[in-house]
Amino acid sequence: MASPVRVTFLGGLGEIGRNCAAFELDGKILLLDCGLMFPEAEHLGVDLILPDFTWLRENADRVIGCILTHGHEDHAGGLSYLLRDLSFPLYGSALTLGLARNRIEESGLLGRTQLVTVHDGERRKIGPFDVEFIPVTHSVPHGFATAFHTPQGVILHSGDWKLDLTPVDGRHTDLGRIGSIEVESGIRLLLADSTNAEESGYTRSETSIGESLRGIFQTHRKRRIVVACFASHIHRVQQIADIAIEQGRVVATLGLSMKKNIRLARDMGLLHIPDGSVYDIAEIDELPPEKVCVISTGSQGEPMSALHRMASNDNKWIRIGPDDTVILSSHPIPGNETSVGKVIDGLHRLGAEVIHSGIADVHVSGHAKAEEIKTLLALARPEWMVPVHGEYRHLFHHGRLASQMGVEEGKVLIALDGDQLELTDDGLRKVGEVPAGYLYVDGAGLGDIGHGVLRDRRILAEEGVVVVIVTVDVKSGEVIAGPEIITRGWVHHEEADDLLEEARQAVIIGIESADDTDVDTIRRHARKALGQFVSQRTKRRPMIVPVVMEA
Ligand SMILES: [Zn+2]
Ligand SMILES: [Zn+2]
Repeated sequence: MASPVRVTFLGGLGEIGRNCAAFELDGKILLLDCGLMFPEAEHLGVDLILPDFTWLRENADRVIGCILTHGHEDHAGGLSYLLRDLSFPLYGSALTLGLARNRIEESGLLGRTQLVTVHDGERRKIGPFDVEFIPVTHSVPHGFATAFHTPQGVILHSGDWKLDLTPVDGRHTDLGRIGSIEVESGIRLLLADSTNAEESGYTRSETSIGESLRGIFQTHRKRRIVVACFASHIHRVQQIADIAIEQGRVVATLGLSMKKNIRLARDMGLLHIPDGSVYDIAEIDELPPEKVCVISTGSQGEPMSALHRMASNDNKWIRIGPDDTVILSSHPIPGNETSVGKVIDGLHRLGAEVIHSGIADVHVSGHAKAEEIKTLLALARPEWMVPVHGEYRHLFHHGRLASQMGVEEGKVLIALDGDQLELTDDGLRKVGEVPAGYLYVDGAGLGDIGHGVLRDRRILAEEGVVVVIVTVDVKSGEVIAGPEIITRGWVHHEEADDLLEEARQAVIIGIESADDTDVDTIRRHARKALGQFVSQRTKRRPMIVPVVMEA
């Protein structure tokens, strides 16, 4: 029997974000991506969400490296946390490693992390793994699909991809290579991007966005133009800069990540903007509006971003007014619609003309839609198929496409976070589960804040808190001072004196009915009495915090 290959999914299956998979062969573990997820409104105060690293920590001595398919945060943003506990080399394209490097450096982990640049089409051994890096097109340059040549046959992981036949840099998804792997050895298992599996047709080429942006620039010739897009979308930035320069404008950037990424991509020769056309944002006020194009971060309405500041007339460098046209060259990620809407509204209030994906073709997705997915399935003709990178419904629809394209019944497996699958001579099956819950990071991110904290925050946000402070004589159980009631978010203090007085009385009666005089018993009685009073009188359920001090 040939050595089995195990794949453990630590994130990305059942949600968009925190992509992380672990491949296991002959006792060694090779990771593929280690990303983060951005929180939604329900995750009060959470900065970001990571995969649960428990299983990786327990198996730390077996982890021999991590392949980064591309530089997006949902694939590389978790590394600066995992690398605090584990140490292993990273493999990726030069740009991917360049984008990941900043965050790892910020965490002070660069010194002990080896970065290994791999090239298009390269095949290399990493421990027992024989890995091949296949170019794919996506919304950040130099992404890879990864082919694992294993004793169980080839496992192909698509990475994030689309089939852009006219990419801005001319670097194509290498369909030819995928086809030839299928002919040479067959593809035993395909793991592929499900993000747009529900959408019919094809995702348009990135170059089509250049055409529509050119049209918008032309009809707004006399105005200053501000374009917001993802800072990692180097090809979008290239097209914006090209059009601006064609029209005699200079380019200035706003937002730290935009500045950093543009510098990185220009240094690497992946972004071409002549030095004479790049101005500092501080210099643009001296130029007439028709000579300026500002490329900015904040296309997702992020609260601290450059665009958000512009929309609230609070940007240090630029005041938006009736001479401005602002283009949001993006589409809100689910969960961000409201904040993007507010930014658009704010820009309108300041008199600007605003153009976004709802009214013009200023954005295309970086992920394959149904017809592109079918094209990959037709070429790869996998024996087994597991949809990855998507919410459950995306995985489900992707699985359906695989069946349509001839993957045998029972050989499409819908797996979720935490699932361990094993590929053996007998086929693919689920063999176990590992912890895969959300790891919430708030602030410095030194520890998981946990579900308990989040539940408390939800109660505080929705119902408020009532604190009762009372001092008792533990010998007699008599109330010596208080009870004092302090509340936030339950009732407005000044208008509720009577209610608070009644609450005090209810607490005193509750404490007097206690059958014991120790602090714990009194605390329990105080909480119960106050809780019942609050609920009966106001039909609300704020958090009740009893503080009992002994005299
Ligand atoms: Zn991506
Ligand atoms: Zn992704």
